[in-house]
Amino acid sequence: MLRTNPATETDRSALAQLASGGGKTVELSGGADWRTAAEDIRGAVQVDIRFASFKDGRGFSLATQLRTRLGYSGRLRAIGDLIPDQAQFLKRVGFDAITPDRSDLAADWANAERRYSVVYQPAHDAIATIPALRKSSSDELEQFNARYRNSDALEILHDALETTWRGRIALLSSFGTEAAVSLHLASRINPATPVLFLDTGRHFAQTEQYLRTLVDRLKLTDVRVLKPDTGEVQTEDADGYLWQRDADACCAMRKVRPLSRALDEFDALVTGRKRFHGGARTDLPVVERVADGLRVNPLANWSAEQIQAYFQAHDLPRHPLADMGYSSIGCWTCTAPAYGGGGLRAGRWPGQNKTECGIHAR
Ligand code: SF4
Repeated sequence: MLRTNPATETDRSALAQLASGGGKTVELSGGADWRTAAEDIRGAVQVDIRFASFKDGRGFSLATQLRTRLGYSGRLRAIGDLIPDQAQFLKRVGFDAITPDRSDLAADWANAERRYSVVYQPAHDAIATIPALRKSSSDELEQFNARYRNSDALEILHDALETTWRGRIALLSSFGTEAAVSLHLASRINPATPVLFLDTGRHFAQTEQYLRTLVDRLKLTDVRVLKPDTGEVQTEDADGYLWQRDADACCAMRKVRPLSRALDEFDALVTGRKRFHGGARTDLPVVERVADGLRVNPLANWSAEQIQAYFQAHDLPRHPLADMGYSSIGCWTCTAPAYGGGGLRAGRWPGQNKTECGIHAR
């Protein structure tokens, strides 16, 4: 929503003077000096600022000065060589009407204001810009990671679930080979922690069986099964072979978008990813910001040996496929045993460059 700065006492005085003359329309060039323009616009009810070229930004500055320095509150119109990409910023600096020279871009102008939900350039409306948002979010992440630097996984999870994001955080689980560890940790803190499971419709029967085993064993009371939108499946994957044609599109439809929709009610999501998984996870922080929100990774610095030790210490059941060479398990269509080295996730999307499904894309 467009906002204008409140006028100062000096501004109000200038405004009163301006208002004392008769109504008229004044045209200024974008390069005009706002101090001399003060006399020109005395008594004006409309000021037109002409842009000789869309590359010349001086008209934006002049509009800002008229609105903020002189407190001009009459109609302000931008005219001349303007392009639809400038619509949002024209409004933000105080224009309330735009008359571009070109008349063949009406549809683009109509859509232009809705095109961007965030802003890059600062203006006197004080809307937070993208650089400012990036700065504040990176400061916030640094604070979280500094706070958790010397904490163990249970302490991190306890703080995340019970204090920092209490009531606004869920745990995502694939119910794969290592899933029992983070689920067990969460159950020790609160078995009613919301657990999200992405049901792609392509899981091994053994994974679904393992889900039921862990839910019973850990007494999890809030497991939420997220399915893809049936309309999207019919439109985008009518023959059921999208995973072969375009695995990224298939993961987007069956995993990324269902999770994104579910995250509307959460501010943060706990994952069980670890740095030793390699690839994009090698530098995994404990708290990170990804495309759809915050991720908390309490097991980020755990080793494979720690995982195995935790299974043994708590006598946790294993995934039925773990002993058959499956070290990382997703959809049956895209998962193979990881024989022959290549790391724990070598059996995912075999024969493709793809290594992640995209739900944690930064
Ligand atoms: S892992 Fe394969 S089948 Fe599952 S959603 Fe991704 S591409 Fe589709």
